[in-house]
Amino acid sequence: MKCLTCGKAMTTARENYNYSACGLPHVTLKGVEVRRCGICGEHEVVIPRIEDLHQVIAMAVVAKKSRLMPAEVKFLRKHLGWSGADFARHMGVAAETVSRWENGREPMGAVADRLLRLLIATKSPDRDYAIDTLAELADEAAPAHLRLAAGRKGWHSEPAAA
Ligand SMILES: [Zn+2]
Repeated sequence: MKCLTCGKAMTTARENYNYSACGLPHVTLKGVEVRRCGICGEHEVVIPRIEDLHQVIAMAVVAKKSRLMPAEVKFLRKHLGWSGADFARHMGVAAETVSRWENGREPMGAVADRLLRLLIATKSPDRDYAIDTLAELADEAAPAHLRLAAGRKGWHSEPAAA
């Protein structure tokens, strides 16, 4: 494999990879193939079944007990395939409210937080979502810390706090 930036050979290794490109700060992919260029520092990561991965991330985020963070609201909204305007229509709020939720200028309220979780759960009828989660939510927001591993049956999220 040649580096796309400088053309030198890249080395391949399995790493625990911080998948910040998904927009969430604390998502680790366990043992994925990463190719690195020792000359210019360029790297590329091989992520199999990325739609399945994003599905598992979304379900893990809506299962956490703390309130959704701005970056998580944005991730989940994109996962639903909606623009800010689409999202605003479905949530029954103004488009400006959506941008304030996503840039952190306004915290998402408790009811909107729960509605977004249910929208994600509804989009994934093949995966269980414990509605009791909604009764156990804390008032504080905290980012989800996720560790995900690709197994034979697809991606799965390892149990984590928060
Ligand atoms: Zn290079």
